[in-house]
Amino acid sequence: MGTPVNIIVGSHVWIEDPELAWIDGQVLKITGQNVEVQASNGKKITANLSRLYPKDMEAPAGGVDDMTKLSYLHEPGVLENLKIRYELNEIYTYTGNILIAINPFQRLPHIYDSHMMQQYKGAPFGELSPHVFAVADVAYRAMINEGKSNSILVSGESGAGKTETTKMLMRYLAFLGGRTATEGRTVEQQVLESNPVLEAFGNAKTVRNNNSSRFGKFVEIQFDKQGRISGAAIRTYLLERSRVCQISNPERNYHCFYLLCAAPQEEVEKYKLGNPKKFHYLNQSSCYELVGVSDAHDYLATRRAMDIVGINAKDQGKEVDSSVPKDDNAKFHLKTASELLMCDLVALEDALCKRVMITPEEVIKRSLDPQSALVSRDGLAKTLYSRLFDWLVDKINSSIGQDPNSKSLIGVLDIYGFESFKTNSFEQFCINFTNEKLQQHFNQHVFKMEQEEYTKEEIDWSYIEFVDNQDVLDLIEKKPGGIVALLDEACMFPKSTHETFSNKLYQTFKSHKRFIKPKLSRTDFTIAHYAGEVLYQSDQFLDKNKDYVVPEHQDLLSASKCSFVAGLFPPLPEASKSSKFSSIGSRFKLQLQQLMETLNSTEPHYIRCVKPNNLLKPAIFENANIMQQLRCGGVLEAIRISCAGYPTRRAFFEFINRFGLLAPELLEGNYDEKTTCQKILDKKGLKGFQIGKTKVFLRAGQMAELDARRAEVL
Ligand code: ADP
Ligand code: MG
Repeated sequence: MGTPVNIIVGSHVWIEDPELAWIDGQVLKITGQNVEVQASNGKKITANLSRLYPKDMEAPAGGVDDMTKLSYLHEPGVLENLKIRYELNEIYTYTGNILIAINPFQRLPHIYDSHMMQQYKGAPFGELSPHVFAVADVAYRAMINEGKSNSILVSGESGAGKTETTKMLMRYLAFLGGRTATEGRTVEQQVLESNPVLEAFGNAKTVRNNNSSRFGKFVEIQFDKQGRISGAAIRTYLLERSRVCQISNPERNYHCFYLLCAAPQEEVEKYKLGNPKKFHYLNQSSCYELVGVSDAHDYLATRRAMDIVGINAKDQGKEVDSSVPKDDNAKFHLKTASELLMCDLVALEDALCKRVMITPEEVIKRSLDPQSALVSRDGLAKTLYSRLFDWLVDKINSSIGQDPNSKSLIGVLDIYGFESFKTNSFEQFCINFTNEKLQQHFNQHVFKMEQEEYTKEEIDWSYIEFVDNQDVLDLIEKKPGGIVALLDEACMFPKSTHETFSNKLYQTFKSHKRFIKPKLSRTDFTIAHYAGEVLYQSDQFLDKNKDYVVPEHQDLLSASKCSFVAGLFPPLPEASKSSKFSSIGSRFKLQLQQLMETLNSTEPHYIRCVKPNNLLKPAIFENANIMQQLRCGGVLEAIRISCAGYPTRRAFFEFINRFGLLAPELLEGNYDEKTTCQKILDKKGLKGFQIGKTKVFLRAGQMAELDARRAEVL
């Protein structure tokens, strides 16, 4: 980013600080490359000249609504601008056409009401304050005017506000493309009501977010020729399965279990429910209630939403609670489970506790040891739950209906951001793979937009380089030989362990720039992702990659007398029974490929959600934390791409207004704006800038240089 220029004793600068990321101060002393700065918090800090950035002393007090309006575009300037705005409850800021949204963690008055929607409708982009509605409006107009599909990609870490943002986008699109409210159950209502249904089954309280979505989602809203919503399709990605059987303080299982326990008495009895503390899958954590949430109320709301999206009362009733209560009375619970699943009691016991072995001579039934039986039970619960979730999504899709004649659509993507925790397993690997894909898409788009601006202004951009992350993607997904492929190979080979898998990775990627074998481990591996290095623990990769339903479970449930349960387990064709394993990683890779194809055929818009603090509280702005998210979200990369070219652009008249006094002699009488700009820059000895058709394009740091000259004259 911008090279420091004209830093002298007394200059106002930004300097790195371990705690605050950046702090402002004034230069006290310069010795060669060493600069001593009096920081604004009283500390004296010394740093290398190249690590300092000039502070814009003329920046507007309330910040700017678009980062590209910053005179000095650099990290500390970006951070300061967001901070100033956040303090004023201005949670939205543009960086060109990327919208940055900082979670307010409080309901801000009126910013999403119908009056606001009315205001944004048709307003030119950039005329009103930055807003999610403005992004949705641009996407909608572009679709209407150019007949082209658009997509809005919402990203950010857990708790950053993606799902809330997505809901606002969908509400606004329903407002633009909806019919009058009197028409009853409309497509747009169904689209909106799919949110509470999916949230009941796919969201849970986690450490990071009380209503965390445990799946990714792409909602495709289809429009007819008149621009009215005519259909929709929801695609979901990677529901977290382990949560069904395993939770720990202070998290919860999926919301729906608590809602069911809070159902009206009659239903509690009918489905043999009761206090959530009775259920083993719920009482592993001592958190049962959420502040400000009534499960009983939400139960009814979810039932109503299910009515609207077209899940009939019969199917709602057949909802299966897969929790198994823990106490000594195992027979009783087995009976309860068999009644709820409507399957044979003995067959259930066998399926849970025994395995069938087929040898050439005979068929043997072998009992599982208690530990394996627990694994078997949990496996059954997870499979049941994930099939139920997929069923829900299918049902919603078929009931909303697809419009086969729709020419254009707007897709909204709400997907997990980059993750790097203390321990990272297969889930993080898939999530970060997704983010690498999206990052590549993002970079290509930002780069293309820059080029288009330069082309429009007829300036030369040929030497602007562009860093690609194709090498990380190759490492992960290349066929053959990428990590996903090697994992599948390991899963197919019965003797594989995570050690043999890790060894294979170490050998194969010995000299890969993006792959690192940690010195002290024989099974971990590190990938150098675009957003930073992540250390993965390989021990569960093989198990988690296998989507394998035990034949005993499959046979049991497909024989259920409850048509709903049986329907979740359609009998397998003979051929696929023998191929024992289906790969979650490969299937996910394919899903991602399809998603990218869809996205590539659309005009993208990006919203980067930022979580200002980990306390989930309003008005706390953690500098270093936010900086890291801007880096992961590609915001800094977009700025870097911009800085590699001409980050500062000024219309000729603006430029002359600000810098005309550097050459007052040029402004006498009539003058041509374009040549005057050129002459001012030449007179001050600047190099490398370009003059476009309507704007001056300055290299990073040149604005600061001109300001310094201006200060000498003033
Ligand atoms: P994510 O989907 O990124 O994990 P959510 O969208 O679920 O995050 O947001 C987490 C929480 O933050 C929400 O439950 C809500 O309390 C709060 N929140 C997010 N966005 C907003 C907003 N625009 N206004 C008010 N509160 C918000
Ligand atoms: Mg979410």
